[in-house]
Amino acid sequence: MEKKDIDWGALSFAYLHTDYSYVSNYQDGAWDEGGLTPDHTIVMSECAGLLHYCQEVFEGLKAYTAKDGRIVCFRPAMNAQRMYDSAQRLCMPPFPVERFVDAVRQVIAANAAWVPPFGSGAALYIRPFMIATGDVIGVKPALEYQFRILVTPVGPYYKGGVKPVALKVSEYDRAAPRGTGNIKAGLNYAMSLYPSVEAHAEGYADNMFLDSQTRTYVEESGGANFLFVDKDGTLVVPQSLTDSILPSITRRSLVTVAAEMLGMKVEERPVRFDEIDAFAECGMCGTAAVISPVGKVVDTEGVEHVFASGMEHVGPVMEKLRATLTGIQTGEIEGPAGWVVEVA
Ligand SMILES: *Cc1c(COP(=O)(O)O)cnc(C)c1O
Repeated sequence: MEKKDIDWGALSFAYLHTDYSYVSNYQDGAWDEGGLTPDHTIVMSECAGLLHYCQEVFEGLKAYTAKDGRIVCFRPAMNAQRMYDSAQRLCMPPFPVERFVDAVRQVIAANAAWVPPFGSGAALYIRPFMIATGDVIGVKPALEYQFRILVTPVGPYYKGGVKPVALKVSEYDRAAPRGTGNIKAGLNYAMSLYPSVEAHAEGYADNMFLDSQTRTYVEESGGANFLFVDKDGTLVVPQSLTDSILPSITRRSLVTVAAEMLGMKVEERPVRFDEIDAFAECGMCGTAAVISPVGKVVDTEGVEHVFASGMEHVGPVMEKLRATLTGIQTGEIEGPAGWVVEVA
């Protein structure tokens, strides 16, 4: 199969449409058989539930070429299960887990020419999503839905090497206690844009959000979970008392890597903002960057909290975790069984 003629390393994180998307529609209480389509547009009723009451959930994962030339993706059944859970929370008919994984395989195989080669640092980003297409005017769940997967090649997250970033503690809240912070839905992002634009305008890479009930505990950033390393080398992972942190697959995988492969001590517990000065390293984790090291956090009083690893270098534990997980993903390091799934 001939690869597309693209300067893979120069790609950014932007939409570039490929040959096929995957689509399945839900009508009369059932999902149709679904399939690939070369049409990258959606035509729907102006009264669709998506457009008025935001019934939308999504996922994000990557496919890439492993060292041995296989096209693989990382733990797609975890994304399938999370989207299943997200859909249930928004009264949408969940798309079956096995069908989700099969659809991911089909759409990657059909776009194999768009999967960047090994070593380019680029990947094929896969965006499954589900929307309410049925008409609703009174507030209630729609009766018709569409499940869709678009794929687009994306460049390396870090172009000139990994550099620590600065964050600010947001004055705004990301998720209400017992709200929807633990599901992957567009609605959680709509109201995060204002604080995110503000943080960028002030020169910060992202926000650190605290728990909205007490503003005492660290929750997460706009689209990534936090990890800390204490002075004894223990990995400390924030837990939410009100279930308002999104269950990141990268974070859960890193916890397994730390405990089972690197022999590290791991604590998953609520983390108070006022203890962060005691930590040596901090990072944000998610599919996009695996780990983005954080050098400092500026609180709402303007006080700077600089981690021991500082703004110049990635801390050794974050570096080790990142190298191990990316090594597993590309097939250079043997990871737990079933994590790397061959798709084409
Ligand atoms: C997607 C997402 C993450 C990261 O999850 P991964 O499965 O690791 O990519 C973290 N926080 C939020 C709010 C997210 O939407």
